[in-house]
Amino acid sequence: MPYWRRRLNVSIIGCGYVGLVTGVCLADKGHRVVCVDIDATKVDNINRAIAPIHELGLPELLKKNVGHGFSATTDFAKAVMESDLTLIAVGTPFDGKVIDLSYVIKTAEQIGQVLKTKNAYHVVVVKSTVVPGTTDTVVGPAVAAASGKIVGEHFGLGMNPEFLSEGEAIRDFMNPDRIVLGGVDDRTIAKMAELYTAFPGVPVLKTNTKTAEMIKYTSNAMLATCISFANEIGNLCTAVGGVDALDVMRANHINYYLSKRLPDGTIFKAPLASFFEAGCGFGGSCLPKDVKALIAHGESLDQPMPVLQAVIDTNRKQPGRVLDLLRKQLPDLKDQTVAVLGLAFKPETDDLRESPAFPIIELLLREGATVKAYDPQGNAGARKQLAEKTVAIVDSMKECVAGAAAVVIVTRWAEFKELPALLKKTNPSALIVDGRRMLDKDSFPRYTGIGL
Ligand code: NAD
Repeated sequence: MPYWRRRLNVSIIGCGYVGLVTGVCLADKGHRVVCVDIDATKVDNINRAIAPIHELGLPELLKKNVGHGFSATTDFAKAVMESDLTLIAVGTPFDGKVIDLSYVIKTAEQIGQVLKTKNAYHVVVVKSTVVPGTTDTVVGPAVAAASGKIVGEHFGLGMNPEFLSEGEAIRDFMNPDRIVLGGVDDRTIAKMAELYTAFPGVPVLKTNTKTAEMIKYTSNAMLATCISFANEIGNLCTAVGGVDALDVMRANHINYYLSKRLPDGTIFKAPLASFFEAGCGFGGSCLPKDVKALIAHGESLDQPMPVLQAVIDTNRKQPGRVLDLLRKQLPDLKDQTVAVLGLAFKPETDDLRESPAFPIIELLLREGATVKAYDPQGNAGARKQLAEKTVAIVDSMKECVAGAAAVVIVTRWAEFKELPALLKKTNPSALIVDGRRMLDKDSFPRYTGIGL
């Protein structure tokens, strides 16, 4: 699409999982998008259509759009100056006490410095996940102080939470279930709505910034709660004995709340059912940090959140459950070789943040085990993260399981479905500890798993 027929000029601060996916998808939908990052290597790779992260469909979308309405830059000022709207998509880690807003604040100040010399109206939109009130009381004032301009008059201020899920990020962004537009006024919201004109039929919720912020946290807290609930039930099934959590959960998946029986007799399961499955715990850059940040925010408002605290506590203990299962079969792990399959927090991503693989590896090392690990996409990152540890990160599943006394499955990668056939040929006596319950328990002579 030629430049002059493109809809909006958009700058996006942060070329991470959210910023890059948002940028290239919006460019594909007809906007002119510039993504900004402080990491020059990342920017360079993006401009050569090399995806800096593993995400299905991203290389193809980059190839199609780089140079055709999409580019990346380290030139923050130019990108903001030449755009109508800026999306803030930088990280918001949790520092153990409160959400760390330093990247967001720095970005807001930088935007303000550019707006100081810009005469045209500009819209600043927070896409990062921030606790309710942040956009209005932190971001807006930071932009205003640095620019000397007035919110609602010289610049608009909005919050547009992102619901994409890593591993399915492009699909999620291109087919959103909802679009939430929080803004300080109608003018801001109208400009934000222009971003999404090419998404017909998608429900658009227009609201204030605080509600938009709260919607995002509620969404993640709800999903995390489902997972910890399923894990708690799974742990009880193990303690009861003779009950398989897989059967218990699958029977509950087909209740009317989670499934629909279609006229031809087939059962349509709601995607939420997959969050009610026992496993070795949730990880990633969002669920753990967002739930912890919400709890901390509640406490700061004298509103404790014991349910969510229990969600986190259950999740923190779940890697230890994997070790319990292993120790039941192999009480002494000293000098035993244990293969860990999966390091990314979920399949189809290379994101290792808060993956249960790391506490599991730590516990194995503490027990004196010799640890080998393999992930189809996460090996490079894991080599850096585990540089100080004596863990052999190997290049194939075959190499990983060779000679192992036990194989622990942490991530539900499709490739690991080949494990029964592989072990039959190469290491039939290995014990399988299935942290995701992804394999048929009868396909191995020695098998245990969460909830079994
Ligand atoms: P990320 O860590 O992958 O990316 C952040 C990027 O911002 C990095 O590339 C970093 O170099 C860049 N950056 C930091 N400061 C900058 C600055 N001043 N100027 C330019 N670039 C700067 O983060 P992410 O996973 O994309 O998450 C971003 C936000 O979106 C977070 O608030 C997160 O909670 C939220 N979110 C993430 C997901 C997800 O699945 N990852 C989904 C929904 C929402």
